[in-house]
Amino acid sequence: MGKLDLQQLELKKILIKGIVQGVGFRPFIYRLAHKFQVKGYIINTSNGVVLEAEAVKPVLNKFIEAITSEAPPLSRIEEIIIQELNPKYYSAFEIRESQADDGYQLISPDIATCKDCLDELFDPNDRRYQYPFINCTNCGPRFTIIQDIPYDRAKTTMSIFPMCPQCNEEYHNPLHRRFHAQPNACPACGPHLMLTDRTGVEIKTENPLKNAINYLKEGKIIAIKGLGGFHLTCDAQNKQVVELLRKRKNRLFKPFALMMKSLEDIHKYCYLNNEEIKLLSSPQAPIVLLKKKNNTNIAPSVAPNNNYLGVMLPYTPLHHLLLNGYQDPLVMTSGNLSEEPISFINEEALERLNNMADYFLLHNRDIHACYDDSVLTIFENKTYPIRKARGYSPTALKLNFKKPAVVLACGADLKNSFTFIKDGYAFVSQHNGDLEDYQTYTNYQRNIDIYQKLFRLEPDTVAYDLHPDYFSTLYSQSLSAKSRLIPIQHHYAHTASCMTDNGLNERVIGISFDGVGYGLDGNLWGGEFMIADFHGFERVSHLEYLPLPGGDISVKKPYRIALSYIHTLLGKLPHNLELLKYTDDEEVNLIIQQIDKNFNTFLTSSCGRLFDAVSSILNICQNVTYEGQAAIELEMLSEDRSDSNADYYPFDLKETGNSWVIKLGLLLNSLLDDYLKGIDKGVIGNRFHNTLAKIALNVSELIRKNHGLNKIVLSGGCFQNQLLLKKTIMQMQNQGFEVYIHKNVPTNDGGISLGQAVIAYVRSSSC
Ligand code: ZN
Ligand code: ZN
Ligand code: FE
Repeated sequence: MGKLDLQQLELKKILIKGIVQGVGFRPFIYRLAHKFQVKGYIINTSNGVVLEAEAVKPVLNKFIEAITSEAPPLSRIEEIIIQELNPKYYSAFEIRESQADDGYQLISPDIATCKDCLDELFDPNDRRYQYPFINCTNCGPRFTIIQDIPYDRAKTTMSIFPMCPQCNEEYHNPLHRRFHAQPNACPACGPHLMLTDRTGVEIKTENPLKNAINYLKEGKIIAIKGLGGFHLTCDAQNKQVVELLRKRKNRLFKPFALMMKSLEDIHKYCYLNNEEIKLLSSPQAPIVLLKKKNNTNIAPSVAPNNNYLGVMLPYTPLHHLLLNGYQDPLVMTSGNLSEEPISFINEEALERLNNMADYFLLHNRDIHACYDDSVLTIFENKTYPIRKARGYSPTALKLNFKKPAVVLACGADLKNSFTFIKDGYAFVSQHNGDLEDYQTYTNYQRNIDIYQKLFRLEPDTVAYDLHPDYFSTLYSQSLSAKSRLIPIQHHYAHTASCMTDNGLNERVIGISFDGVGYGLDGNLWGGEFMIADFHGFERVSHLEYLPLPGGDISVKKPYRIALSYIHTLLGKLPHNLELLKYTDDEEVNLIIQQIDKNFNTFLTSSCGRLFDAVSSILNICQNVTYEGQAAIELEMLSEDRSDSNADYYPFDLKETGNSWVIKLGLLLNSLLDDYLKGIDKGVIGNRFHNTLAKIALNVSELIRKNHGLNKIVLSGGCFQNQLLLKKTIMQMQNQGFEVYIHKNVPTNDGGISLGQAVIAYVRSSSC
């Protein structure tokens, strides 16, 4: 090489941040370097990938351009920092051993089996033919097996499986699609399956999977260890076994998820649009809520009183083999007793699930971080999350501002997630469940520890819900020695969460139609209109306070709420109400006395409780066995009556100073009239939904007139109700409002921690 050429060489040090590990990024750069004849090296650090690239200027520029334009499908580049160095005259491009330092990086979630691996899985000539743990740099377990960063096999639960020579060769060959695929394995060296009976005694067999499939055909229930935990599985078309599973799991009505072999199969049972097809077959492979077709063979007890089925495609090689052998739809519900966390350790599962499963299909790859399946739906052609975990979490959101603080937000107690913020990134955890359950609470603390370690987080600011009795509040107090604690009102957090989800950082109208959250005045809020930004909020309107006699007991028994609301608002109790069949004079009198004497009675402005009351008045649901059941069943009956959008019940807005209280007496009276006239429940339900949308519109118009705000964010559990969401958005858009809904985190309490975190982050530097 002539001297002139050498002088033209340029060397750049490039730091790339984002999801760049465990997604085939280094082999991609390696191949790119070869293509462009760029010399230097690449290395994984816990701060991201770092490379030094040396070439003549135009080549180097093209190389850097190609890094972003051709990046591997699962990677996500967030930031590229380039530094000029003096040439070092490298002779080749190489991949160097990883370095640990005190930085942190984004970690890829687990990814569904890719097309290339599937082809091998079903190729009788491939050495991984029917091997249930096949994976590559583009697919397989990630977050569930990573014990520390940088992401390397030695720091995963795969470290106990030394690779055989063939796997080792693939792993070290930069041109192979399994180059540095950390979970790389084959039948000779990797994890394997085993089958046991319910007592944990191994059933000796050549092919545990085949035996398991036969048991399923005989109508048995099998606990299957998957990616992030155990599933309980049975035939979805066998009514007896589905009902048996409900009994054993103590889950009476909450829908079970299904796994089906292919999109064609799903189409036999559900309606599908393009967006739903895309989501089902995405690398995240979540459970998608799909409108079910009538008169199929799916047992009605899979999703009682529900117009939808939660369906997913196989997402691990084990699932592909299972469904390929079984052919028909399977129930795949998380392996737990109702309300407990998902099991993820073999011994523990054998202990906790042995009253539920007849057999266990286990494997010997440990799960380090447990994960439930994610649940999403498509609303107006966009994904709308219900529960985020496998395939998505940690959900990393880039904020549009940066502060020096490190924040932990503890979330709420139901459908808990927590959130960390550091360097302008929010990491929202997977769904942890309901913290009232002791095991869930323990698991929650364990998951916080995992995040702290993986992302190198030492929170100096801790946000928590204002509710004094929440377990998440209790947890936050244990951190008081090291951190500044900031309590945040529940519905303010909902609003801030939806703002963050949409990149908004300004004053907005925040509407929270929710279950209950602890209010600033100690009452249970949940039908709230506020003016809010990240610095504070003002409550400008709410549903009127009504008594909730006995608190939690009433949440389980909606007829108590109906009686309370009718008694309080109308002062009379019609004798021909069907709900009276579910109670007796003694209980009715007790409830009335409790309200009149204000004994053990809470005041609530909750929209969710109003749904419960209406659901009970219409005798749709009198006993709630899972959160939201009464409201969901009301929505289901009202859904197909949505032709008459203009038809709504009257209500009053009472002005008090700068705010409005939404009076519900007229609404309840007219609704009761309709009911006593014998009008169809779906029609009444539809009118009720219209009324809430109309309330939201009228109040928003008053706020716009008085405060000049035009942007509305909708959050809170009630907006999981798509009928309500659709009607509300339509009314508002017709009047020129800009309406924002959730995109990345759930509208229910699963999204609370993100809002808490951002508010605390903004406040962290204010003193
Ligand atoms: Zn693959
Ligand atoms: Zn091997
Ligand atoms: Fe909430």
